[in-house]
Amino acid sequence: MNEITIPGTDLTAKSIYCIGRNYIEHAKELNNPVPSSPLVFLKPQSALCFDGSEIIIPEQSSDVHHEVEIVVAISKKGKNIPENDAHNFIGGIGVGIDFTARDIQQRAKESGHPWSVAKGFDTFAPVSRFIHASEFEDLGYINVDLSVNGVNRQSGNSSQMIFSINYLISYLSSIFTLYPGDLIFTGTPSGVSRVISGDQISATLGEKLVTLSVSVK
Ligand code: ZN
Repeated sequence: MNEITIPGTDLTAKSIYCIGRNYIEHAKELNNPVPSSPLVFLKPQSALCFDGSEIIIPEQSSDVHHEVEIVVAISKKGKNIPENDAHNFIGGIGVGIDFTARDIQQRAKESGHPWSVAKGFDTFAPVSRFIHASEFEDLGYINVDLSVNGVNRQSGNSSQMIFSINYLISYLSSIFTLYPGDLIFTGTPSGVSRVISGDQISATLGEKLVTLSVSVK
């Protein structure tokens, strides 16, 4: 696969880690239990796309949802990173949308199957450009918003996360060796809903410090 540079950084994209059910209100809206440890899944790099992209609804699904998420880019290799050192591994903060084929995911959940198909279609992981973490006053208090056709659908704040950004970096590194260019989608607040062809979707962090605009083909 061609090397893909993460916008706003000189990092080459590697693994894409995602966290499920990291906001209590979102877990509730899908009638899921609140997890006692992070729920981790991965997306393939072929799902990655960027600002201005067209999102493709696959023919296998008729219920694709947006999930806006704060995304962390990892800056250096690390294993068993202590939570109080995790901030030193952050190469940038951006916003992304974890597009999800909810109908496929629901069938997978019911039969105890993994989520790779529901989460992994081409264009299902758009991300913005990334900015330095120091541009945010407090990583524990970042607003994240998503609108569809100009109407707000999701509003959250990283203070509502069950597992903080630093905790997630530490936790993931206890399992996987993290590498520069790894991305972590940190979970979505409530308000997920279906998208349809022609939708214009805009996601922002903070006071529009970072923006991501995509359209649905
Ligand atoms: Zn998600």
